[in-house]
Amino acid sequence: MPCHFRVHPAMHCPFCSAHDTKVIDSRLVAEGEQVRRRRECLACGERFTTFETAELVLPRLIKQDGSRQPFDEEKLRAGMQRALEKRPVSVERLEAAIAHIKHRLRATGEREVKSRVVGELVMAELRKLDEVAYIRFASVYRRFQDLSEFREEIERLSRDPRQADEKTDEQS
Ligand SMILES: [Zn+2]
Repeated sequence: MPCHFRVHPAMHCPFCSAHDTKVIDSRLVAEGEQVRRRRECLACGERFTTFETAELVLPRLIKQDGSRQPFDEEKLRAGMQRALEKRPVSVERLEAAIAHIKHRLRATGEREVKSRVVGELVMAELRKLDEVAYIRFASVYRRFQDLSEFREEIERLSRDPRQADEKTDEQS
């Protein structure tokens, strides 16, 4: 087991201290708790390996317009809770689903993933949890493919109960 250390946001080369390093390879180690990255310094060309704790390395999300934003667990939770509103799904099962999504994101080993990857993971988890929540989420998400727009849409629907009820009635 190699010794590991927390990596500060400003990762620098141990040979020349330059800040620009390129990731050549990354893989999940220690049962998914860490990501091992092979890096190359863009200044001096030396290669070195880092072990980064998984908490720190959830990939950033690439939105439809190309902008990047950090993974936001609270936003993910809020989106799923809205889809699960008044559905018979325990907090424990929701939290397990969120943990699973985070694990899958880490397992990509990527620094950045398209935000739609998260949307697809959410849909897969909701489908296992509750069919109605899945339909609520998917029907909106497939059109927007963006979690923030999805939330706005769900907020709009919850202000107009007639539209939201249509979907649940089919299932009850
Ligand atoms: Zn260097």
